[in-house]
Formats: sequence, C-alpha cells, structure tokens
Amino acid sequence: MVINLEPVFNNEGLFVPIDYTMDLASLSHSGTNPLSAPVRIFGSIKNTAGVVNLDALISFEYFAACDRCMKSTSKKYELPITYTITRTPVNDENKDDEYIFTEDMKLQLEDVISENIILNLPNKFLCDEDCKGLCPMCGHDLNTSQCNCKEPIDPRLLGLLQFLE
Ligand SMILES: [Zn+2]
Ligand SMILES: [Zn+2]
Repeated sequence: MVINLEPVFNNEGLFVPIDYTMDLASLSHSGTNPLSAPVRIFGSIKNTAGVVNLDALISFEYFAACDRCMKSTSKKYELPITYTITRTPVNDENKDDEYIFTEDMKLQLEDVISENIILNLPNKFLCDEDCKGLCPMCGHDLNTSQCNCKEPIDPRLLGLLQFLE
C-alpha cells in the first residue's frame, strides 16, 4: 500500500483519514509467520502549517507457540504511532524513530507497519502469565494436570537417606 503524499505536502491544513487493512502474513519473525490475520492501520495524515504528520493506531493479532508450553496461541495488540514525514533528511540522530524521510512524497505503509510491529514484539510470548509449562522430564503439559515425575535425587544423597531410614 503506497500513499501519495503530494497533495498533503502541497496543501496546508489538509487532513487525510487513513483506514487500511492489509495482509502481512508473509512477514517472518523467529522462524514463524506471526501475522496470519490482517493488520489494520487507522488514523490520519495531516499538514499543519507545512509540517506533515502521521498519527495512527496499528491493530494486529500475534500468533505463535507459547514459550513455556508450546501450545499455539494468539494475542491482540494495539500500537499507537506518530511520525513527522519530511522531504529532506533529518540530521538529528536521536530523533531517527520519529521521522520518515520520503524523497518522492510516497509513503510505503507496509514498511512503517512491519517495522513498528517487529520493534514491539514481546520477547517472551506466553499463553498466560501463569503458564506452568511442560515437565522437563516427561514433557507433560503441567497446565492440564500434574505428572508423576519426582525431582531427581542426587545419588550422593541416597546413602544419607538410607542411613536416616
Ligand atoms: Zn503456555
Ligand atoms: Zn513429568
């Protein structure tokens, strides 16, 4: 999805609402394609006294396996973004994240969206904050029930235990 910003740059006060739904299912992250549901961007681009701003909310659903129990699960996220769009490069390194530079007055929405999603993905993805995970010995899902495994006993302690009995 490419937006031509020429009318916005050329008309002070122009306000362009944006509401697009796009398919980013081919985006891959950590060996999976977590965006199997369409991603929506909703907001506006406006020219305020010659400065062009993009303000929007990215809504997406992230599909992946739980890092603890491996069950496939999904979560919905909403990500607000704000950018100033410029036609000349901005020489302020600290401000990199808040500017989009476009020489030809075209805005590649997919790039803006996928970059923001990747930067904000959770580094631990859990089906539930309290997920108990899998038993490290038998692989049983401890969320469904407890298994019969016992903590392994250090062989050096066995003699002592027998002594105590
Ligand atoms: Zn889990
Ligand atoms: Zn077990």
